[in-house]
Amino acid sequence: MPLFHPFRKARRKRILESQAIPDETWAWALSEHRIFHRLGPGDRARLRELATVFLGEKRFDPLGGPELPEDLKVSIAAQAVLPLLGLEEGLDWYEDFSTIMVTEREYGVRRKDLDEAGVVHEYDDEFAGEAFELGPVALSKADVEASGWGDGYNVVIHEMAHKLDARNGAYDGSPPLREGQSAKAWQEALGSAYEDLRSRLAQPKSGKPRRGKLRRPAVPRLDPYAAEGPDEFFAVVCEYFFERPELLRSEYPDVYVQLVIFFGRDPSLGGT
Ligand SMILES: [Zn+2]
Repeated sequence: MPLFHPFRKARRKRILESQAIPDETWAWALSEHRIFHRLGPGDRARLRELATVFLGEKRFDPLGGPELPEDLKVSIAAQAVLPLLGLEEGLDWYEDFSTIMVTEREYGVRRKDLDEAGVVHEYDDEFAGEAFELGPVALSKADVEASGWGDGYNVVIHEMAHKLDARNGAYDGSPPLREGQSAKAWQEALGSAYEDLRSRLAQPKSGKPRRGKLRRPAVPRLDPYAAEGPDEFFAVVCEYFFERPELLRSEYPDVYVQLVIFFGRDPSLGGT
């Protein structure tokens, strides 16, 4: 809708001028969330700009609970805009929703605690957040606080990934791709990784490794929630892409390549 763009641009300029995130709060957000530690100065400045506009454009609804603390809102905003850093249309990707509902208590925790051997210790498929079609995003405060630590779990990025996915009308694990990006390569990479994950999860976990051979573990190190459907697969690999890029790259290198193309950045490298 090009007609509205000049107004939007002016509104965003006003937000940047009048609703700056205080330096102290921003410094806290950058140091508190390990996923931001690798960002270079240019990326940090862009992240702050995007987060400021996000805060100015979105409404936070505590659903009858107490007013949300400022640092929680900044934490949500900064993590929500991280995927947008390399996307040209920036916050326009999120124009179909304006409200973030935050529940005081968790809905139920989706755990993905893994030990050194990559074994999933606990798992519960209740949700920690939700992205409603063409509507608000719901997040639990506890899960927001559990996000951003660089361990692979990130409810904010997960829900935002659903929003990116739905931009072309369907939750199908395929967002509108970058110009020139091959839809076939995307489908092949994500589709075969999804099938691989499903079949590895279906294998009996007690199989003994063959003697003398290093085998790929039958239980993948990704959250099994990714096997729920292609849409959840996309949302979960996005969490790993920004939280634990090396892990995703070693499990599913082709998926990693596709995400690098789509997001226009490689989180495993230091930023600019
Ligand atoms: Zn989901």
